[in-house]
Amino acid sequence: MFYKKIISFVVILISTSFAFSNETTFNGKFVQGGIVIGQNKLAKKVFFNDKLLQISKDGFFIFGFGRDHKSSSTLKIIKDNRDDILKYNLNIEKSIYKIEKINGLPGKMVTPGPEFYKKINKDRALIKKSMNEKYIVDEFPLTFIKPTEGRISGIYGSQRILNGVKKNPHGGLDIAAPEGTPIRATAKGKVILATKGLYYTGNIVIIDHGYDIKSMYIHMKDISIKTGVLVEQGQTIGTVGSTGRSTGPHLHWNIYWNKVRINPKHLLTISK
Ligand SMILES: [Zn+2]
Repeated sequence: MFYKKIISFVVILISTSFAFSNETTFNGKFVQGGIVIGQNKLAKKVFFNDKLLQISKDGFFIFGFGRDHKSSSTLKIIKDNRDDILKYNLNIEKSIYKIEKINGLPGKMVTPGPEFYKKINKDRALIKKSMNEKYIVDEFPLTFIKPTEGRISGIYGSQRILNGVKKNPHGGLDIAAPEGTPIRATAKGKVILATKGLYYTGNIVIIDHGYDIKSMYIHMKDISIKTGVLVEQGQTIGTVGSTGRSTGPHLHWNIYWNKVRINPKHLLTISK
């Protein structure tokens, strides 16, 4: 069930009308790494800070907050009548992240040798190019499912210190499962990348769900779909593996809103 929650904020009404001040519904957490689905049936334009959001026919829109998102943001909704503007001052709660220290790793697991730089840069460029794609669709992705079942072996936001070297924070959710376990598309969308053999990510799939939401599936064993195809929610896209820079079979699952990594846990929560 799509659970709608009405949250009252300090609403600054630029218009003289107070009648519709509470007609916007929000589903989600205003917290670092969080994601929120909003709905306002009269919305003509919605801005999150300065970013113009896509609005569905039913008035749905979605926006999220990165790992270190600043404490305040604004949401502006312009309604049918241009003078009727709702402005919400949003307070984004801080998240506390785990610090994971792993020592005694072989040196090449921490820092790749210079012979791999060219390959790593080529892989990065390929992912970047795919992430720039924009799939425009009216159907709003209201719910998201967990792509595979298994033990959660890594969480979003953790700061990793490997052999004393500070690495990039962990940007996704790790689900450990036996090699060959099916991986399903979290929501309907268009496959914008399905390729094998990348240095860090191994075999990878990226799906664009529209509305600036993309999901990424990393370290896969098999890939059963191709770049460019449309997939349904729950459709098998491949299987769990340990390709690329991985220490054992697991799915590393990333969720992006507007190219910013958000916490997949929150996306699952808003789908309940
Ligand atoms: Zn991971």
